[in-house]
Amino acid sequence: MILMKDVYKTYANGVTALSGVNVKIDQGEFVYVVGPSGAGKSTFVKLIFREEKPSSGQIFINDINLSELKERKIPYLRRNIGVVYQDFRLLPKLTVYENIAFALEVIEESPRNIRNRVMDVLDVVGLKNKAKSIPDELSGGEQQRVSIARAIVNRPKIVIADEPTGNLDPETSLDILKTFESINEGGTTVIMATHSKAIVNQFKKRVIAIEDGIIARDEQQGEYGYEV
Ligand code: ADP
Ligand code: ADP
Repeated sequence: MILMKDVYKTYANGVTALSGVNVKIDQGEFVYVVGPSGAGKSTFVKLIFREEKPSSGQIFINDINLSELKERKIPYLRRNIGVVYQDFRLLPKLTVYENIAFALEVIEESPRNIRNRVMDVLDVVGLKNKAKSIPDELSGGEQQRVSIARAIVNRPKIVIADEPTGNLDPETSLDILKTFESINEGGTTVIMATHSKAIVNQFKKRVIAIEDGIIARDEQQGEYGYEV
């Protein structure tokens, strides 16, 4: 479960990105975070995996109070949270296989486990035949599926995606959405910041709309609600 209590975030330059956010997201939910550019969506998702700290208020992730989380414990939090970015962030000189295995090697899994788990997640995203390719040899949609595989290989309870389809064409975007849906069906919480009206209105989920740093709407089976 993710709980935010009266969360404020003001950056060092004085910009207040969030002001007084209260929200509860249960394990297994699929949530879109929508709103205009600069509204605070990225800040909202970054607070969850502790890429940013709140200026005030409290954030709990599965009963862990992030304000009390020691720096050296942050890796344990991050193991439970997979993150997918708009720009994929793959290591260009490593193969698909190596990009995904990397996330497991840093936590000292056995070679056999690594192999099994990498091939399992490549199967989930439909890219078993691309294990030996390097990112440049793949389409944008395929690269994003590699980054999703990397995000789930540690079997996190939560997957956060910040504009995951922002660099992809509409058809590829729908495929990516289906991949997130199947991950969510396995019980993983999915939180996706998005500007895709087509996705939000087609695959109906909970919608949290952030405007000017506050939660303007929070609806089950919500609509995108903006023109673009
Ligand atoms: P969104 O994802 O909805 O576009 P952001 O959370 O990225 O919104 O940004 C919210 C506000 O905070 C914007 O005014 C943005 O310029 C500002 N902001 C975001 N990140 C930083 C940062 N690291 N330092 C200063 N200001 C920032
Ligand atoms: P793991 O089994 O994941 O390797 P350990 O049992 O070795 O974790 O835990 C090491 C320390 O980190 C313990 O003090 C544990 O309470 C703490 N810890 C484990 N998971 C988390 C988490 N998600 N967030 C914060 N601390 C954690």
